[in-house]
Amino acid sequence: MSNYIATPSRTKEILNKYKFTFKKSLGQNFLVDVNILQNIVKHAGIDKDSGAIEIGPGIGALTEQLAIHADKVVAFEIDQRLLPILKDTLGDYSNINLIHQDILEANVKEIIEENFAPDQKVHVVANLPYYITTPILMKLIQDKLPVSSITVMIQKEVAERMAAEPNTKSYGSLTIALQYYTEAEVVMVVPKTVFMPQPNVDSAILKLNLREKPPVHVQDEDFFFDIIKASFAQRRKTLQNNLKSFFKDKYDKDMITDILLQSGIDFKRRGESLSIEEFAHLANTFTNALQ
Ligand code: SAM
Repeated sequence: MSNYIATPSRTKEILNKYKFTFKKSLGQNFLVDVNILQNIVKHAGIDKDSGAIEIGPGIGALTEQLAIHADKVVAFEIDQRLLPILKDTLGDYSNINLIHQDILEANVKEIIEENFAPDQKVHVVANLPYYITTPILMKLIQDKLPVSSITVMIQKEVAERMAAEPNTKSYGSLTIALQYYTEAEVVMVVPKTVFMPQPNVDSAILKLNLREKPPVHVQDEDFFFDIIKASFAQRRKTLQNNLKSFFKDKYDKDMITDILLQSGIDFKRRGESLSIEEFAHLANTFTNALQ
């Protein structure tokens, strides 16, 4: 029988040896099922030539599987207490670079350049800390990293938001941002029983394939994302009211109404009813009118 880190007995043994106590505030729910981990590695498209970036290795359950299947792994861990543990649990693998850093503070692009060959395919793979799923995903995609895919375990409910349609409760600014940069696919739903400690909700593995080109043409990306943020600021408010309050210090109210009329999009609609194409059209109309 294998002696992988990701079994309930080995995990308990490691936790006891180091008297490790979970920090809920860091989203510490460790995976204790090797099959699930191997599924993540397989869906990520990892092979012996690949590079892998991991966020939050914990005690090394996923890191170990990545080290076995990839050429090299770079893992970012914020919790200082885990570093000596990882040195011990992953001591048999020579292709892992552990970095003690908050992923949100890291210059991931530079680290990719330092650790992987220029033509090497690099995949981001992680069982994400749930308290910062959205900021991490937004950072990874907006930093325009030279990675082929991002495969992450996240809360099932958040995964549903990624693939949501307009006019549904799950549809929001995150849905549109991800649609703009990636093609998102929910690979599988994972029960909470495969984690230690068990979270309150089920999870899902989400795979994001980075698009070469966005699906819509946008003249000013920052403004496009401002319009989206504004439109979802208060979900029950109309497009017109949300835009007027968001831009109140910048643009005159009547000017906003004029531009909305010009766009041909009914300003009494709610932001949650607009498709990505309509948001792009609205943002471009504003950009042109304000030039
Ligand atoms: N990969 C391990 C596994 O699957 O068993 C642990 C996953 S656990 C859900 C999340 C991990 O992310 C923890 O080890 C936690 O300490 C780490 N973490 C939390 N916030 C982080 C951050 N901002 N940057 C890097 N690591 C972070």
